Amino acid sequence: MKLKDKTQVFFVGILAVLVVVLTVLSALSFRRFSIYTAERHARSVAETVKVALTESMINGSIGKREQLLTRLAGVPGVHQVRVARGPAVVKQFGPGLSSEGAASQDVTDVLRTGKETFEVTDVDGELMFRAVIPYVAGNDGVPNCLQCHVVGVGTVLGAVSIDISLAEVRRQGIIAVVMVSLAVLAAALLALGLLRRMMNPLAEAAQGVQEVTSLAVGGNFSGRVRQRSNDEVGEIALNINQLMAFLEREVGTIRTRVGQLMGHQVVREGGNQLVHTTELVESLVEASQFKQAIEEDQTKLEIYQRLSDMLQRKYDFKRFSIYEVAASKNRMTPILVDGEAGAACRHCDPQVVVDASFCRAHRTGHEVNAVDYPGLCTMFRPGSAGETHICLPITQSGSAICVVQIVVAADEGALARLMAPFVSVYLREAGPVLEARRLMEHLRENALRDAMTGLHNRRFLEEYVGALVAGSQRRKSAFSVLMLDLDFFKQVNDTHGHEVGDKVLKTLAGILVRSVRASDIAVRYGGEEFLLVLNDTGADTAMEVAEKIRGQVEATKIPLAGGILQKTISIGVAEFPADSDTFWQVVKFADVALYKAKSDGRNRVVRFAPAMWDASASY
Ligand code: GH3
Ligand code: MG
Ligand code: MG
Repeated sequence: MKLKDKTQVFFVGILAVLVVVLTVLSALSFRRFSIYTAERHARSVAETVKVALTESMINGSIGKREQLLTRLAGVPGVHQVRVARGPAVVKQFGPGLSSEGAASQDVTDVLRTGKETFEVTDVDGELMFRAVIPYVAGNDGVPNCLQCHVVGVGTVLGAVSIDISLAEVRRQGIIAVVMVSLAVLAAALLALGLLRRMMNPLAEAAQGVQEVTSLAVGGNFSGRVRQRSNDEVGEIALNINQLMAFLEREVGTIRTRVGQLMGHQVVREGGNQLVHTTELVESLVEASQFKQAIEEDQTKLEIYQRLSDMLQRKYDFKRFSIYEVAASKNRMTPILVDGEAGAACRHCDPQVVVDASFCRAHRTGHEVNAVDYPGLCTMFRPGSAGETHICLPITQSGSAICVVQIVVAADEGALARLMAPFVSVYLREAGPVLEARRLMEHLRENALRDAMTGLHNRRFLEEYVGALVAGSQRRKSAFSVLMLDLDFFKQVNDTHGHEVGDKVLKTLAGILVRSVRASDIAVRYGGEEFLLVLNDTGADTAMEVAEKIRGQVEATKIPLAGGILQKTISIGVAEFPADSDTFWQVVKFADVALYKAKSDGRNRVVRFAPAMWDASASY
């Protein structure tokens, strides 16, 4: 029940009780007053009768007493007056008039007891007050009863019965009570009216405050309370309105600012604005924590892994791809697919891997939202009917360096679309860090590679040695080192010039790369000296590989402007840890074997033997 109704019911109740109580009280008072007045009236009449009868007896005019009684009965309100003789008077003076006998039981009782009686009775439908008052003999009055009556003091001489009609009194009483009731009712209604006037603004203000605050609890601060007065109630309305305006403005500003920070307009309307804003701020804080975490990550893969964890744990996406766009080439590599590292392209046509321009998100650098625009990207390959996707590029300096593809069932599309801006915040944070790592890896890669041949350089070998030896020891597996040197290379330069010499070196590098496995390492060790590390390979197998290389070099015809060029190569082979458990010593031994190959006539492969080391003590 509302405050207004409650107050009204309360006051109407009080006023109704007041009217009833006052009416009942005034009716009761009036009844008491009427009876009291009638009693006084009856006593007066009785006294008058007594005095008149006594006077008549003394004067000798007692015979005319009937006229007196008739006259008294004519007094307004007096219905009937009768005198009854007591036994003592009857005995002394006879029964008297016929009307002077005890006509009723109450008179008989009073004559016997000497005690007056009063009662209200109904006579033929008329309300009557009946008094029966005895005359008791005494010698103190003037005139004195005992002058005529031969009786003792205290004898009941007779009784006067008086009937007084209460009809008129009652009518007047009812009128008076009705008047009082009406007056009270009018006063009550007036009071109620005044009260309503006073209460209405308060109740309306209370209702307004209740409506506005319940809207505010739901995060909507647009409600206002109508200010109706300038008193305290009006001030409450004013303060509430100011508070709401403040909250509306400030929360709106926070939302806009946060939206700007998130890089998109906050489009979620309705619902609890405060809760939305808190969610936005929380995701910003989390994104900033995410950035701090990835800044401490060393490799790109760790960052990609963290992005994958975020998609899985925070947003519950099960299917997604994280593609990396190669820095120079127009290729994309799936880094993580559905959380799995190194998996093949699963949700797109594999063409995007070979030619990244097929990927719409990569090409445009913009979000691809197939939830709202189905079929936007023709490269999408849904796994089951109705799957949809959202692709978010990570752009740096205007071009996409990475594409995150989220794949969801059609009925989860709307939710994914809602989550996409939040995911984008993470991607925006990840962008610069990923770019920095890419650049670093690129620079590092360059620093560790030979620009001309594309092979690793000596510095790489120096850095790699630790891991190489540790891996070999851990696996308890041998590896071999091959030292290679072109035969009479100086002649090439001298005869054909440096450019041709370089061409020969590049050709040899190509042969080396093709001849070894991905786990092996090809290093340009010096000018025209090369070094191969064949992992998990003993010297015997290494000799076979070396021989194969030697044969290939010998068979390779390098076209020149004026004909073709064929070169040979000498190779020395040593094994770790069979020849030495010190890497650089093994390199040295391979070099000793190479020297032996040269001295034995070149274009050959020589396996290191300890005797060679002794023989080359001066080496
Ligand atoms: P051999 O090894 O059979 O004893 O004879 P060689 O003529 O090959 O002798 P050596 O290995 O000492 O020759 C090294 C030559 O390789 C010297 C230098 O002119 C040449 N050279 C080294 N680096 C480069 C390079 O980057 N480009 C070119 N064109 N030539 C290089
Ligand atoms: Mg050399
Ligand atoms: Mg040489």
